[in-house]
Amino acid sequence: MSTLVFGMTRTFVKTLLGALVYSALCWASQLAAAETLPPKPAEILGFSSGQWHVRHDQIESYFRALAQSAPNTTRLEVIGRTHEQRPLLQLVIASEKNLAQLEQIRQRHLAVARGEAAFDASLPLVIWLGYGVHGNESSGPNAAIEVAYELVKAESDEAKQTLENAIILLQPSLNPDGMDRFALWANMHQGTSPVADPQHREHVEPWPNGRPNHYWFDLNRDWLPLQHPESRARITQFQRWLPQVLADFHEMGTDGTYFFQPGIPSRNNPQTPAKIFELTGKIASFHAAAMDKQQKLYFTEEAFDDFYVGKGSTYPDVQGSVGILFEQASSRGHLQDSINGPLSFKTTIDQQILMSYSTLRGAVALKAELQQTQAQFFRDAAQAAKVDPVQGYIVGDDGDATRLNAFLALLAQHDIKAYALTENMQVQGQQFQHGQSYYIPLKQRQYRLIKAAFSTETNFRDNTFYDVSAWTLPYGFNLNMAQIRTTPNALAEQAWQDSVVKVSPVNAGAYAYALRWTDQQAPVMLAALLQQGLVIRSSLQAFSANTPAGIEQFAAGTMVIPAGLQPEGWFETLQKVQQQFALPLSEITTGLTPVGSDLGSRLLVPVTLPKILLVAGPGMNSTEAGELWFSLERLAGISPSLVEPQRLSKIELGRYSHILLPDGNYSAWQEKEEQLLKSWVAAGGVVWGQKGGAQWLAEKGILQAKVQRSADLAKLIPANAPNYQDKEQLAGKKRIAGAIFAAQLDLSHPLAFGLPRAMLPVFKNDPMLLLPSTETFVTVGRYTDKPQLAGFTSPEYVEQIRHAASLLAHTQGRGRVIAMTDNPVFRGYFVGSGRILVNAMFLAKAFDTQDAGGDGDDE
Ligand SMILES: [Zn+2]
Repeated sequence: MSTLVFGMTRTFVKTLLGALVYSALCWASQLAAAETLPPKPAEILGFSSGQWHVRHDQIESYFRALAQSAPNTTRLEVIGRTHEQRPLLQLVIASEKNLAQLEQIRQRHLAVARGEAAFDASLPLVIWLGYGVHGNESSGPNAAIEVAYELVKAESDEAKQTLENAIILLQPSLNPDGMDRFALWANMHQGTSPVADPQHREHVEPWPNGRPNHYWFDLNRDWLPLQHPESRARITQFQRWLPQVLADFHEMGTDGTYFFQPGIPSRNNPQTPAKIFELTGKIASFHAAAMDKQQKLYFTEEAFDDFYVGKGSTYPDVQGSVGILFEQASSRGHLQDSINGPLSFKTTIDQQILMSYSTLRGAVALKAELQQTQAQFFRDAAQAAKVDPVQGYIVGDDGDATRLNAFLALLAQHDIKAYALTENMQVQGQQFQHGQSYYIPLKQRQYRLIKAAFSTETNFRDNTFYDVSAWTLPYGFNLNMAQIRTTPNALAEQAWQDSVVKVSPVNAGAYAYALRWTDQQAPVMLAALLQQGLVIRSSLQAFSANTPAGIEQFAAGTMVIPAGLQPEGWFETLQKVQQQFALPLSEITTGLTPVGSDLGSRLLVPVTLPKILLVAGPGMNSTEAGELWFSLERLAGISPSLVEPQRLSKIELGRYSHILLPDGNYSAWQEKEEQLLKSWVAAGGVVWGQKGGAQWLAEKGILQAKVQRSADLAKLIPANAPNYQDKEQLAGKKRIAGAIFAAQLDLSHPLAFGLPRAMLPVFKNDPMLLLPSTETFVTVGRYTDKPQLAGFTSPEYVEQIRHAASLLAHTQGRGRVIAMTDNPVFRGYFVGSGRILVNAMFLAKAFDTQDAGGDGDDE
């Protein structure tokens, strides 16, 4: 009896674990283990394909029902959750035989792909079908339902043959939060019959549209930086499975036809082997045949490049997979007029279904070649690593473990290994301290992805970029980086792994406690302490102080928590918050300091919790507004109030200490907004303007600076009587699609506190520039004499950048004005330059560009 109970319990526990890994319903279906007829989509949804835009909960209901009906050929997995807690679904579809030994197949497949086992023709192919990374491109997710149904039903010989030969990983919606935003919009405007008029409200989405995710990030730029849960879940599955083919379904403008890759040959990432491009072309012949049969229009090899490796169709290409981008003309709603006649939602869905099948057909037909190419890819990469004069990269940090660990965790997510230095090293004049420095050897499986992620290229064969031309990860994280040609001899044996950091609890009874400002988490911990009512001061200068461990040195910016000023119960709060953030606190025993100000000095300035208004709404660049929102929460620990620009004149500005103007078009702001902002700044407000926001502040005389506008700078690019065919190339030269520059900061300025070095990599994707101020102390950062770090920029622009300011800040009345024309928190991973934004939130009142003593000693 007891044995039986024990046995049952074990089974139950095992099943429970399974349910955790997969879904609760998958577990239920395993218990049932009986195949029934798969439900038709309309039976679950209540409407037929294209009649309404499916919501994500309806996709989930359908996929659960479908998986339950076919437990022997499907496995539904919840691979993550979005910011808004929608499940990220992946349906694995395979033949009964393959599904029964799925894990063994995966292991053998990985071994072959990685060159650890001999080629095995009996292994099935792994094909990834991913839909709707852009939420308002709904034909993909709506098609995914039909594709899944047909594959699970497997009535046709072709469907049966596909499942015999391939494991299919089907992700019906890569961006459920964005998709639901758009589905709600499209559905709420549909009446009894669809309105095709492009001016009908249904076809004109509000701000922010459904394309990006919850924080308004473009998830199809996040395959490399992995700032969002949707991307991390996806990349975990990619690395877990290494599919040979990855299909990425999108939509383009309503007047388009259909695009499938190959894209523009000259605009592939240089790490993409020719063979991958060739295979993309071979699979394309299957798409073309399917389109031809139905006499549908389409195009290839134009637009949509594969250069930036953070896109869904490029990321696989540098890892031995064939990534394919599909772009269907969008009905953006249920029916819309186009130059090709009325385009119905149903038509767009049907074409995505057609291309899903042609992908499967082409991939299965080319199975052996795809499998061999993938294995060969990693053999070739190993060979390239062998002859590469560069052995690897050393990266290091100066006292910011959080930033370094975030970088190493990102590499680990991409299956890139890093090894700790066990001795100090000096490379090219840079010091790399052991314990704070890591070596990333190129002789590892991800050779090509590392080359792409660390690239500092500034010369390109084609200067036109669909997306950015540089993204160098160590620059985004502001780490010291050196390429080295000999492997360091003092290295840890084990690659870096994430581990939980613990700090010993702080002791009661000190005169004051000090929090160093260098760690990326320090501002977030500061915000938590301020929210709990602690009184904190920031030191404007470096100092030393007595502690139980002896005299310790503290850099400018250090946050000092004087015991004598704190409210009741504060010490428990301090202990709790410190344990939560795991950052060290120093216990200072006396207010008298050996070097620098004593702790009661006026050079220790009060720090308060900022109340932030972020202008976000129609006219603003939603991507940059979203990056500010996301970064303020993550780097400063504060959720800003998001306020639409047209409401500025109607609200109580006195509630806010800070107003942030992201890039955008401010032409709708009139005299009223201008006057309100001027008096708010005069009364003590801190205004931050970036790009278009900075330009508006300068035009209105709030920012005392001269702006070189993009349109004026573009006139510097020589046209030399071009032929009409050179139009695109010329436009490419006039853009800064996205490049990285070196700025030199005044480290003694409060806006630069906590930064490890005067040289800071900054990201620029607009030629617009600020000229250095003629006033003293206003130009906090300027570009270096050789400012180009990575990416394409026309030489005419580089010459202008050399003489421009990267960060201006000045006093205005009792307020402060801070401006830059770079994007300080580009794609969320530019956490290095993000420190300037954070400092502007906590330390703006710590600087004053008016004459010293002007405020009087009595104030
Ligand atoms: Zn798209």
